[in-house]
Amino acid sequence: MRTHPELQAHPDYFRKSVVQLADNVYQAFGFAASNAYMIVGDDGVIIIDTTESTGAAENVLAEFRKITNLPVHTIIYTHSHRDHVSGASVFAKDHNPDILASEKFSDDFLAVASDHPLPTQAMQARTKRQFGIGLKYPDEFIGIGVGPGDRPMQGLGAGSLPPTRRIGEDGEHLTLCGVELQLVMAPGETPDHMVIWYPEKNVLFCGDNFYRSFPNLYAIRGTVYRDFDTWADTLDLLMQFNAQILAPGHTKAITNADEIKSLLTDYREAIRHVTEQTRKGMDAGMTIDQLANSVTLPDDLAKKPHLREYYGRVDWSVRAYCVGTMGWFDGNPTSLGTLAPDEEAKRFIELVGGVDALMAAVEKAHSDGEYQWALQLIDRLIYLDSSNTQAIHLKADILREYAGEQINCPARHYYLRSSKEMKSEI
Ligand SMILES: [Zn+2]
Repeated sequence: MRTHPELQAHPDYFRKSVVQLADNVYQAFGFAASNAYMIVGDDGVIIIDTTESTGAAENVLAEFRKITNLPVHTIIYTHSHRDHVSGASVFAKDHNPDILASEKFSDDFLAVASDHPLPTQAMQARTKRQFGIGLKYPDEFIGIGVGPGDRPMQGLGAGSLPPTRRIGEDGEHLTLCGVELQLVMAPGETPDHMVIWYPEKNVLFCGDNFYRSFPNLYAIRGTVYRDFDTWADTLDLLMQFNAQILAPGHTKAITNADEIKSLLTDYREAIRHVTEQTRKGMDAGMTIDQLANSVTLPDDLAKKPHLREYYGRVDWSVRAYCVGTMGWFDGNPTSLGTLAPDEEAKRFIELVGGVDALMAAVEKAHSDGEYQWALQLIDRLIYLDSSNTQAIHLKADILREYAGEQINCPARHYYLRSSKEMKSEI
């Protein structure tokens, strides 16, 4: 199947390696969706983030053990997302280390954000689609946009351990195995983000507040609103460290102070731009759909490798800002009440001359490569008759081709896995 040309370069970019960032600082890169780090101290090591699976964590630990056999003294989580905490049991196995995290440490998965019942099954189904679970590497699944596709899946989500100590909002200065570290609260991709500053070596471990992609201001698996202005403010905070090495939760480390400053500035400007343009559009009375189709990054930012939409997407961010600040109503009085989809479909199909006429329009849009229009049309046939397998299978074919055009990995996966679900292939 087709893969966007820029994504074709990802397996090479994410090739596995253990990278020495300073004389005693190592990054395990390309072993898992996220990076894990090891700082070697006098009488033990500090592990920062633990990957998403026990399988990946075992591979990382085996590599780290080639460097040192010192015990794991402390594990530090930058935040609570599963791709950073789920290999902890492997690193903790023989040494019972302290596990440090922010006092806000709490997953932003909807299902654990509340004590009350939530649409957990919907979230789980959407999570599988976003991350392309069950898709085949490398033909269907090339990677997650900010991590490799070729990685172990055994023990996925299985090895997370709770923090043994939570760090308060003022942060902490610590000396661990002779290594002085500062733990600093840095809400961004999640409210519970905590960055680790290692002043002696000028290394900043920034978690997921920066990676090589447009930021994931909204995750299509379903998330609560991620505060855009707070993330942008945190990028200002990160710049104040004047780090010479930026060690992110995903994608390669950056080892040049000027480049770090310029990348963080671009990142902040991208978030500020989307926020400001969306807010101005809302103030001018534009609807969510209009804004999602009109707000874009300025060209000079859009073409930078670290702002390509491999993982986050500008239009989804626009929608998230609208809904996060004002809720679902887009301000257009028509939207206060809409016809049920099957009723709208019935009337629309009558208007265009019947089911066959609409099917012909779908087939034309499909063969013209007008995939979005084809999908919007064919949905009406499926709303009208949810047992119309001809339409469902055609929709699945359209989704598969549309997936091949995507530069955004969550979108590619969502289209592709949905397509396979419709054909009961997965
Ligand atoms: Zn992550």
